[in-house]
Amino acid sequence: MSYLHHTGIYWFNNDLRLADNEALTRFCEQANHAIFVYVLDPRWFKNSHYQSRHMGLYRWQFICEALQAINEQLESYGSGLHIKIGYPTEVLSHLINSSNATLLAGNRFAGVYEKRQWRHVVGQFPDLTTLVESGHTLFTEEQLPFALDALPGHFTPFRKKVEKLSVAPLSHPVNNIPAFPKNFRAENEIDLVPVHWPHMRQPESNNTDCLFKGGSSAGLDRLDYYLHQSKKVLRDKQTRNALDEFDASAKLSPWLACGSLSARQVFHHLKSFEVTIEANESTYWLYFELLWREYFQWYLEKHGKNLFRYRGVQGKAIMTSFWPERFQKWCTGNTPYSLVNACMKQLNATGYMSNRGRQIVASCLVNELQLDWRYGAAYFEQQLGDFDVASNWGNWQYLAGVGADPRGARQFDIQKQAATYDPDGSFVQKWRAEQNRLPLDSTDMVDWPIQWH
Ligand SMILES: Cc1cc2nc3c(=O)[nH]c(=O)nc-3n(C[C@H](O)[C@H](O)[C@H](O)COP(=O)(O)OP(=O)(O)OC[C@H]3O[C@@H](n4cnc5c(N)ncnc54)[C@H](O)[C@@H]3O)c2cc1C
Repeated sequence: MSYLHHTGIYWFNNDLRLADNEALTRFCEQANHAIFVYVLDPRWFKNSHYQSRHMGLYRWQFICEALQAINEQLESYGSGLHIKIGYPTEVLSHLINSSNATLLAGNRFAGVYEKRQWRHVVGQFPDLTTLVESGHTLFTEEQLPFALDALPGHFTPFRKKVEKLSVAPLSHPVNNIPAFPKNFRAENEIDLVPVHWPHMRQPESNNTDCLFKGGSSAGLDRLDYYLHQSKKVLRDKQTRNALDEFDASAKLSPWLACGSLSARQVFHHLKSFEVTIEANESTYWLYFELLWREYFQWYLEKHGKNLFRYRGVQGKAIMTSFWPERFQKWCTGNTPYSLVNACMKQLNATGYMSNRGRQIVASCLVNELQLDWRYGAAYFEQQLGDFDVASNWGNWQYLAGVGADPRGARQFDIQKQAATYDPDGSFVQKWRAEQNRLPLDSTDMVDWPIQWH
């Protein structure tokens, strides 16, 4: 095999897997020596503009488990993962300089900041060769039957245009991991076990009893369980709206979000299940859900920072404001709506909430509490173990009526939702979610205490 580059750097980001990782496979074929790096940006652990952190405990623990798994896999080839704390631009520039690397590889970034960082690094080294693949999506941009600028504004026309496209086969497994450059020593600046919480301030909750275990093999196990072992996938369409039953939906989102599973792996396992076992409306539905995910990935790619704008991609004026007390009550599950409270307590205790629950609490924040939707989205970013930038902010915009919903803002009737999805009140009971009967606000518009008897 002929090697093109003496030393290359592979930047792991939200592609935390070795299998079905075309960028990694090609990188390993092109580098004689390799450094595999993961950069932990300290800004993730600071509060954003919206009173929440970019990274919360559940996701961080899950990512640490995934990093540990990658490190072990790389070590089995005599290599390892270099985990650094710092600003990605600085860490990577330093690494490129110190190792004289001529190749930088990774998967296409979903986030706006990460894209900017990549461009910044590449701009500093005009002689650097870059290798980038689309590992986070089912399709590549070239496959889309429209230019990105012409991405349909709503999901249904998008789905109709792409659902019959063929999905690329899984990439060849990596069978040769290049060794570290001479004199290079991989460092790990964080403790993966027990999970080290950078930035010193410990999170409020010490409950790290996540529902999910990080790493590709745990993700593949879950996929195998949902398809082959339990065959629960055959009832997905009927059950997926359940608020609390773990096997009611695939529960693949944390692995998909950090890339420990690729969307293509899920797709191909599903297709093979359909061919060898059974295909029905529910198996199609799982694909349908993957297409929602796909839509939001391209939606972010097209709209960039407008995904985070108050007026959304539509630039629409909406009448909401910000009441800190209401927001706190929503976050802690202390609103006048017991179903909303139960969902929020579930999220705070587990890092997960069902899709139905997410829709209900988001609608409540926007419509009943009349709060700025971005605070809700940012709180989800902090709390969700499966946070995915495109899916989260895209869904929030959709529900706030400034995004991809053709019908505009949609308000869920909370009482009706409770009657349909928690008819015997067992979900509310399980999460001890009392209805807060006190007035929503303790002060009025001009900050006077509200007198009530
Ligand atoms: C306000 C709000 C915020 C959300 N934030 C996120 C997020 O940060 N990360 C995330 O992965 N999903 C998010 N979703 C989508 C959805 O709620 C979760 O993907 C789903 O609940 C995960 O559980 P599951 O794997 O069992 O999903 P299933 O219903 O079994 O679906 C299978 C997969 O399809 C994808 N998917 C399903 N529904 C959606 C959807 N509406 N949008 C995008 N992808 C979807 C997910 O990758 C999911 O794992 C959000 C939805 C709402 C309404």
